[in-house]
Amino acid sequence: MLGDVVLKAESKTGLVFFPAFDWAISPTHPEREERLLYTQDQVFEEGLLDIPGIQEYKPEPVTHQDVQRVHFCVPDVQQVTTESHFISAGGALTIGKAVMEKEIRCGFALVRPPGHHAMRLVHGNRGFCNVNIEAIMIEYLRQAYPIQRVAIVDTDCHHGDGTQDIYWHDPDTLFISIHQDGRTLYPGSGFPNETGGPNAAGTTINIPLPPNTSEEGFLYTMEQVVRPILDEFNPDIVVNSAGQDNHYSDPITNMNFSAQGYAKLTELLRPDIAVLEGGYSIEGALPYVNTGIILALAGIDTSHVKEPDYNPESIRQSPEVSGYIQQLGDKILELWSARKEVQARVQTEKAFHERSRSIFYDTDGIQETQHETVRACECSGGTLRIDSTASTGRHVLAVHIPRNACKTCQETGMDWFESEKSKEFDALYLQNRPVDSYTVQSNEKQ
Ligand SMILES: [Zn+2]
Ligand SMILES: [Zn+2]
Repeated sequence: MLGDVVLKAESKTGLVFFPAFDWAISPTHPEREERLLYTQDQVFEEGLLDIPGIQEYKPEPVTHQDVQRVHFCVPDVQQVTTESHFISAGGALTIGKAVMEKEIRCGFALVRPPGHHAMRLVHGNRGFCNVNIEAIMIEYLRQAYPIQRVAIVDTDCHHGDGTQDIYWHDPDTLFISIHQDGRTLYPGSGFPNETGGPNAAGTTINIPLPPNTSEEGFLYTMEQVVRPILDEFNPDIVVNSAGQDNHYSDPITNMNFSAQGYAKLTELLRPDIAVLEGGYSIEGALPYVNTGIILALAGIDTSHVKEPDYNPESIRQSPEVSGYIQQLGDKILELWSARKEVQARVQTEKAFHERSRSIFYDTDGIQETQHETVRACECSGGTLRIDSTASTGRHVLAVHIPRNACKTCQETGMDWFESEKSKEFDALYLQNRPVDSYTVQSNEKQ
């Protein structure tokens, strides 16, 4: 049936598969290669790759430079990544480039390892993630093509705290995370009052949905809350961190979403680039959800995509959940409307804004303490300085000069990096985005 559908060349949809056979946290861990193998089988069996409008790409790995454009890896990239991370990020980038080159209208990178819990500074693995594959793709595209405004909509069941961290200060990147309420699920963050740093107030949006939210709640949120915000922000590209662990059969979460729901969500969102994140119901959900997303991206009817045990009545959400989600949506829209006022007030409060926090790397058992300073500035997020101490014994300084930094932000960043106090640190890192360079100064004894 599907083979009869003929699509125009300009409406092509790209796909990348990378199951990462050699990468697993442990053989029985939910994050393992079978996650994608079942999907790959289903896609072949359904004949999706025979549809003229669907084109498969092989992932090309990203480089160390591509990773360092986004991350400060401690002590270095080599020691916190594997070959699979370069290919996984490369899968996202392969789709991103094909979209920018207009070979395809949109595409889906079905890759692992995932990335949305990886923050700007990386001491190890958090929530199955080492490096942020969406951010590596986006920052490459920004370097290579004339795009400025990017929206990332994270529909994984877990809060995309890593992506939030990377874009916290960037007013040109809208980050929206829809996830299960952090009071009931890892990583425990992602509340509506987390709206972005002083130079980017309002461009981080968190929508924590209650446990047992079903199709109705997700689609209401997408249609009534996310869509109007996206239309107003008017991004050059929309990236979807397409986690599938909201599925009713997922073993590590508590939501009631379905393959039909994911397909409709994708039709409403219309992402340019979708990148797989989590999803651990390997046989019960992933093959169906992925098929639904692929068909929705390709503009093909998805009404037949159903799990064998799909029963909308048994997963319907309660009136209490519906009422809660409506109120939450109103609150999110209010925060969005007030963002310019809030930013004008907060940004000018002081010349430098600071925050301290602790970050736990659950997979690697590392505890980190960060002290962050950002210069208040309208240029492109302001120069940022992170003083980080980890339970590995490492104490480092990381300085980020943003893409369109003004002269003062550039000078401030250089002063921080070259300061007399440099000797206190085991290593200093400088991301100098206006010249796309990365510098490391190591004080560690060899
Ligand atoms: Zn997840
Ligand atoms: Zn500036």
